[in-house]
Amino acid sequence: MATDALMNTYGTPSIALVKGEGVWLWDAQGNKYLDALSGIAVCGLGHSHPSVAKAVAEQAGLLTHCSNYFSIPNQEILADKLCTASGMSNVFFGNSGAEANEAALKIARLHGHKKGIKLPTILVMDNAFHGRTLATLSASGGRRVQAGFEPLVRGFARAPFNDMESLKIVADNNTDICAILVEPIQGEGGVRLASTGYLKQLREFCDQRGWLLMLDEVQTGNGRTGKYFYFQHSGIIPDVVTTSKGLASGVPIGACIANEKASNLISPGKHGSTFGGNPLAMVAGLKTLEIMKEESRSVGR
Ligand SMILES: *Cc1c(COP(=O)(O)O)cnc(C)c1O
Repeated sequence: MATDALMNTYGTPSIALVKGEGVWLWDAQGNKYLDALSGIAVCGLGHSHPSVAKAVAEQAGLLTHCSNYFSIPNQEILADKLCTASGMSNVFFGNSGAEANEAALKIARLHGHKKGIKLPTILVMDNAFHGRTLATLSASGGRRVQAGFEPLVRGFARAPFNDMESLKIVADNNTDICAILVEPIQGEGGVRLASTGYLKQLREFCDQRGWLLMLDEVQTGNGRTGKYFYFQHSGIIPDVVTTSKGLASGVPIGACIANEKASNLISPGKHGSTFGGNPLAMVAGLKTLEIMKEESRSVGR
């Protein structure tokens, strides 16, 4: 395998997969594998679901890309469905989990400035993982993703995950905090679940302080825990939720979903993306959601 021209990001993978169907994958030699990785939480419908593949192929032949200077009808439809599924009001589409989180972080900073905080600070958790861009790796908890990339983006405070008492101490010592960003289940941090009631406590705490509660459901969203979003197990609604991995069956997509209070902070010129929300990704997202709804009673409200 000639991988010399690739940057050495992932080491040298030894298996090349060429075909997928449901839970099965095949390599070029015809060996068959049972996929227990699911493209890292991406292929919630299995590989190459025929309805998704058909919809994507048809859209590719019709209109693959269209800039956001024009209206993209399926963007509005998917946004509408995600708002219904989450109980929230507005969506920004990007192309990845990190981009969805970048949008959330920018919204939090706008929120902080609106509150008159000069250097708005976002509370994040030990062992968190929010992505590999400079802001999201700075928000992440592990030195593994940060080492070598200093100076890190400023404006983050940190507390231990699933520990309200420690969080309150951090909060009382930092008047610049205006938002919390947290994975409801820490994924890369070791699949660590919070205790029952933690999200409820965070919701109450954010309400008391006028902070935004922002959940990173890039990995826990899209039906992976039995509800469409994990937060729906605890009966709360965050101000912002991000999702990406399982949203469009592998076509790159990310979504930052917000309530009115948070999304009203965004106005034309404040944020954007060339590819985000493009027709191909929107069709993949719509088809994925439609099939999840058909095949599962737990999706939606
Ligand atoms: C994978 C992941 C991200 C980053 O998503 P990318 O699409 O790789 O940018 C962010 N947050 C969580 C919780 C993730 O699991």
